[in-house]
Amino acid sequence: MPAILIDGKAIAAQIRKEIKAECDALKEKGVTPGLAVVLAGEDPASQIYVRNKERACEKTGIRSTVIRLSGQTTQLQLEEIICSLNENPEVDGILVQLPLPRGLSEAKALAKIDPAKDVDGFHARNMGALVTGASGFVPCTPKGCMELIRRAGVPVSGKEAVVIGRSTIVGKPMALLLLNENATVTLCHSKTADLKAHTKRADILVAAVGRPEMITGDMIKPGAAVIDVGINRVGDKVVGDVCFAEAGEAAGFITPVPGGVGPMTIAMLLQNTLESAGRRAQIG
Ligand code: NDP
Repeated sequence: MPAILIDGKAIAAQIRKEIKAECDALKEKGVTPGLAVVLAGEDPASQIYVRNKERACEKTGIRSTVIRLSGQTTQLQLEEIICSLNENPEVDGILVQLPLPRGLSEAKALAKIDPAKDVDGFHARNMGALVTGASGFVPCTPKGCMELIRRAGVPVSGKEAVVIGRSTIVGKPMALLLLNENATVTLCHSKTADLKAHTKRADILVAAVGRPEMITGDMIKPGAAVIDVGINRVGDKVVGDVCFAEAGEAAGFITPVPGGVGPMTIAMLLQNTLESAGRRAQIG
């Protein structure tokens, strides 16, 4: 495989080490970074994600609190809990684990989070900051992709970047981040007429679709940096949106699945929480 492997697991471990050191320094100033996770309902995947976030917090010294709510929680109760977390001075970051149980509005819940504690970066104020180039919290997965690109030394300015997938949590913010770094960006989706014509031009290709191995080797520009966000279960295996074996022959850089973007998402959540706590330390 001629492509250089971008090892997200190793890079995320390095970032967590950096975060731990900064966390220790903040604690010496009397500030312990705190993350509050609101978990409503019994969705098994969400339970696992939240446990992983708790563990990652523990290892880096961030205080994590999980507020577990039943699937019968009302919108009003949920929003009251979010408001009380907004007011809690020991909480630097608030995360509402999605998806919420049926009957609860994600949009209304996310809108209640204080944008200064919105470490997932999903609040419209933070999304708007991304559009205008103002400072704000950046959603963790695209932020992690940018960090991988940066730490791998992949040049972005003036390059052709193609993002496949236009979700609010991955594709759209990813396209904006690349644009803010002066790439020429194309955003593809399910109605894109000739996907291959676009991907073949990409110096940087980000796949965030959710379709196992849909990006084949013949769709990659030789030497491109390929960032695979996809997580797809196929039998007992997890594969990305990119056919790793084929794409690795053509690309210059490639992220694996698992072990690429995935570990970076949690690392960026910790980083956003630390950033928020850092502001508290400056104010206090
Ligand atoms: P969504 O389902 O919200 O969005 C998928 C996007 O892919 C849509 O914009 C859709 O287009 C587009 N799409 C679907 N089919 C095609 C196609 N044939 N050609 C081109 N575009 C297509 O997914 P998410 O953004 O939430 O997640 C994408 C993937 O990333 C999933 O596998 C998910 O599991 C993974 N993921 C991984 C994370 C990590 O930490 N590594 C975090 C978040 C997600 P349209 O808008 O037209 O429907």
